[in-house]
Amino acid sequence: MLAIVLVVFLYLKRPWFYDLTAESEHYICYSTATTEQTEQILDVAEALYTAYTTEFAGLPDLSTDHPKLKLKLYKNREEFKSYNPLSGWAEAFYQKPYCHQYYSEGEPNPYHWMAHEATHQLNEEVAHLDLPRWLNEGIAEYFGTSTWRDGQLHLGEVDPNTYPVWCRGDMVFSGDIAADIRAERFIPLETLIKDHGGPDIDEHVNLYYIQWWSLAHFLYHYEGGRYRSGIKPLLLDHGTLDAFRRHIGAPEEIQPLWYEYLRGAEYMDTSVASEDVGSADK
Ligand SMILES: [Zn+2]
Repeated sequence: MLAIVLVVFLYLKRPWFYDLTAESEHYICYSTATTEQTEQILDVAEALYTAYTTEFAGLPDLSTDHPKLKLKLYKNREEFKSYNPLSGWAEAFYQKPYCHQYYSEGEPNPYHWMAHEATHQLNEEVAHLDLPRWLNEGIAEYFGTSTWRDGQLHLGEVDPNTYPVWCRGDMVFSGDIAADIRAERFIPLETLIKDHGGPDIDEHVNLYYIQWWSLAHFLYHYEGGRYRSGIKPLLLDHGTLDAFRRHIGAPEEIQPLWYEYLRGAEYMDTSVASEDVGSADK
């Protein structure tokens, strides 16, 4: 029995040997992917860094004076899963100080897992925010699903080849909010913010991610950015329900607007089919 426990422990703890170390201005990446792939990951990470620090300039605890941010880039999904056997449904994860992700060569967008996790890292290590899950994920998804083009991240311009956007087409929103809530097809806004009392996340993981993502996108872009000015105060007040009421509005008034925004989803294109790869992070 002891031997079995020891074998399992050593399997979980076995070291990962990387082949190369590459650096950019703000990042250091340990990698088993190719040099070209690793450089692309660093290019996107730097574009993300610029977009993030520009967007959140002025947040009181944001500081660009920090050691290089650390990335571990696995050459493929198989290697990532092999060295992170407890990752469950996660396709990538951030555990301070490392973002762990694989280079997804088979996907049209091979870097979106990194962009998502690296945003969590920026929330933690650069902006020093203390956020609840809905807002931490929402911000990571807002940046992580934005389009990388010409060396820049175009915030809010949704790349359909990113998680969770590619799941949007699987969701059915009937137009009747109460009916969708009863059928566990829609998580009420208050429940999402309080992070309590909603459907089981293990069974509805994509729904949670879709709603976190679309709520963040709504806050940035609804009616040309009607709620945008409330986002920074909301971040600083830890995204509580009270803070939402103060800086955005009454959840009962916002919910139907957001629901229709999510339902319409004019800001995205679901016509591009995705690979049938997993889900998200934790
Ligand atoms: Zn996440």
